[in-house]
Amino acid sequence: MADILTMGMDVGSTTSKCLILRDGEEILASALIPAGTGTSGPRRALEEALAKAGCTREDMAAVTATGYGRGTFPGADYTVSELSCHALGARALDREARTVIDIGGQDAKALRLGPEGQLLSFLMNDKCAAGTGRFLEVMARVLEKDVADLAGMDEKAAGIVPISSTCTVFAESEVISQLAKGADLCELVKGIHASVAVRTASLVRRLGVEGPVAMTGGVAQNAGVVRALEKELGTSIRVSPLAQMAGALGAAVYGWKKRGKNE
Ligand code: ADP
Repeated sequence: MADILTMGMDVGSTTSKCLILRDGEEILASALIPAGTGTSGPRRALEEALAKAGCTREDMAAVTATGYGRGTFPGADYTVSELSCHALGARALDREARTVIDIGGQDAKALRLGPEGQLLSFLMNDKCAAGTGRFLEVMARVLEKDVADLAGMDEKAAGIVPISSTCTVFAESEVISQLAKGADLCELVKGIHASVAVRTASLVRRLGVEGPVAMTGGVAQNAGVVRALEKELGTSIRVSPLAQMAGALGAAVYGWKKRGKNE
């Protein structure tokens, strides 16, 4: 029997992720373009993933779109919420995860999964940039760093410069004034990571923490935030190297469940 290929497309606020799955399990190709909804990002992610897999869109048994901009992606067979896809994707990455923390470019979600990976409950912050990737991007810009450079800086800090403002705009002013006073950059970054961790931990605690805890979304790539969150929650957090692809993976799994396995 021919391989059944399904595609997941996660049209995010800041990045576009595309993933091609063979027979519901094997990742054939993936692509991540740092441009999200309303840009050429989704098309470029699709073209790159297809080129890597050496196939065409017509070869796909199902194309499933998810993410903030999922409604703008043309020609999807299915359009599915991020929550469903992140639950499926997190489960595919980590069969044991019972709590999933997803921090993306402009929202943060906490998901509770049942023993079979079913989504039991969730909480979401999509109203405020604090505690999201956007907060980190704003702070990175003020510090004249790339957001990826923030990840290890906290480890070089002797102390911490706490950020007291919960609002991104006020926190940005606070960081600028700390810089003016000559604050240590690494200690500032540690304070920035702690600020994201405190916001996220309060969301997760309201949902109830059950281990194992896994983290998905682009911010999971920031080991400093993961460390701060582990400290704040008092538990270890599992991060797959494919954490940022969880939504796209979940979308491809969704397509497989809907169509692929019936063919
Ligand atoms: P969305 O789906 O909303 O576009 P993502 O889940 O792709 O969001 O996450 C984007 C966020 O991930 C960025 O705002 C940034 O903070 C963070 N990020 C992305 N790449 C890296 C990296 N290499 N290191 C640290 N953080 C990263």
